[in-house]
Amino acid sequence: MIELDAYEPIYYQNGQQVELQNNIGFMVVNQIVDGPVGKRCPNCNAVPMKRTSIVWAESTQRAGHGIVVLNRLALRVAPPRQPRPPDPRFPIESHLKLIGAMPALFVLVCCAGALTNTADTGVVTALLWLPILGFVAALIWTVRSYLKFREGLAAEQWQMGQSIARYNRDQDRWRRSWFCGACGTVAVEEPSPTATPTG
Ligand SMILES: [Zn+2]
Repeated sequence: MIELDAYEPIYYQNGQQVELQNNIGFMVVNQIVDGPVGKRCPNCNAVPMKRTSIVWAESTQRAGHGIVVLNRLALRVAPPRQPRPPDPRFPIESHLKLIGAMPALFVLVCCAGALTNTADTGVVTALLWLPILGFVAALIWTVRSYLKFREGLAAEQWQMGQSIARYNRDQDRWRRSWFCGACGTVAVEEPSPTATPTG
């Protein structure tokens, strides 16, 4: 059986990247009845059903790093994909570039003032305020962006917790599910918690 790596891209036969469904439409039933030759489909009564994981393994082929060749059937029986966690890094580089540019601009104005040897130092002094104000503005912008980023990240991480719980449930169902080749139903036995377990 092919185990997918966490966030591996999957390519269809024509080389296009395929986004597999995150949530398979499972048909959840209390019990999948055994027919004369195997599990009986709870939707169309056909027998036998096959384990979804086996149908998946038979419908996929590894063709190099990060590439899995799928046939059409594979798309129907694909396992749920692991959700991608949010990037916890604050993009500080662009902020630092802007903050760092201000002292450079300050020096530039000073040099320009000295070189031109202008009599009107008032103009140079006024121009020097630009990088100073820019420096303060860039600092405020950075702090505000960082706070906003932290807030957004917390929300994304909470969402991620929900997604992982859903993924774990779907992954567990997928491993226990059966596929009907006649009608395409993916069925999984999931007795209700109130049901009395038998044997
Ligand atoms: Zn069926």
